[in-house]
Amino acid sequence: MHDAPPSLEPIRRAPKVLLHDHLDGGLRPATVVELADECGYRDLPASDPEALGRWFVADTPRADLVRYLEGFAHTVAVMQTARALERVARECVEDLSNDGIVYAEVRFAPELHTERGLELDAVVEAVLEGLSAGMMAARRAGRPIVVRALLTAMRTAARSLEIAELAVRYRDGGVAGFDVAGAEAGYPPTRHLEAFTLIQRENFHATLHAGEAFGLPSIWQALQWCNAERLGHGVRLVDDISVAEDGTVVLGRLASYVRDRRIPLELCPTSNVHTGVVGRLEDHPIGLLRRLSFRATINTDNRLMSGVTLSSEMARCCRAFGWDWSDLRWLSINAMKSAFYPFDDRLALINGLIKPGYDALEAESAFRVSSTVGS
Ligand SMILES: [Zn+2]
Repeated sequence: MHDAPPSLEPIRRAPKVLLHDHLDGGLRPATVVELADECGYRDLPASDPEALGRWFVADTPRADLVRYLEGFAHTVAVMQTARALERVARECVEDLSNDGIVYAEVRFAPELHTERGLELDAVVEAVLEGLSAGMMAARRAGRPIVVRALLTAMRTAARSLEIAELAVRYRDGGVAGFDVAGAEAGYPPTRHLEAFTLIQRENFHATLHAGEAFGLPSIWQALQWCNAERLGHGVRLVDDISVAEDGTVVLGRLASYVRDRRIPLELCPTSNVHTGVVGRLEDHPIGLLRRLSFRATINTDNRLMSGVTLSSEMARCCRAFGWDWSDLRWLSINAMKSAFYPFDDRLALINGLIKPGYDALEAESAFRVSSTVGS
């Protein structure tokens, strides 16, 4: 008897791990409205939280990255004070914890939050304070979660070395690594070599947005020049994989390297549909990459702009690819293994929380199936 794919409600209770989520892409619409009021920002496209929420979801098919990025002008505009940053970070942790996430790395670009005079250090400190407050509240609510920050440098700017130094400076205060993001075309990651070299010399961690809108050269540079440990998206790696009509799969050298070395792919299916990287979710390479046992992870990217949670993303993929609990367990363990978090702590979460959590959900679903058959 074939079991129905896991649905949203039990997935929300599953212990999940999120590695690719942007702080400025995950605000609550009501918070955007309130913060805009507080700081006198008058350019919001709607003042009613519900209408604003709808505006943010850029779900026009094949919209491009530029349209998708429009929403960030508004969220970033209201995240220019320590108080605002602290609040957004705290609410982010609450929202992730309410979605059943047990470990997350949330990223933001400090250089985007200095328009009203905040220093880079003050930006980072405000966010870290918000993350701590959120973790404390989640613990009190009986839904403990660990959240770490990744500091992002903008590809199109020239401050990456400064941001890498900033990340290293706060490594013991809650910053887990470094990232570079922004439009890929015309801005190869090798422009930021100095920053990545610093991260390496300091034995620190880096992931890198690569292979989202742009193809294999960007992935190759991220890995072989910048020494990125994980690929932010990396979805265009499929350009190096050919599947013949009889189902035979041939991996190119880069795809083989990524799979053999177990390099984690931070895949964000719905976001890729919204930015036009992939036409339909059903055609997203995550299905193929999972079948071929790449170190795939599933992520939200921008919860507000994509109108998703990690749970809803998993539920959609279960329907699209026929996934069951074993797939969701595999993705969650993959993500935990790939986290920029100490080895012992990763193991403790995998063995103490993630595996038992999925065991229980699988047992529950098996029980449901057998009682349906019995009735
Ligand atoms: Zn991203």
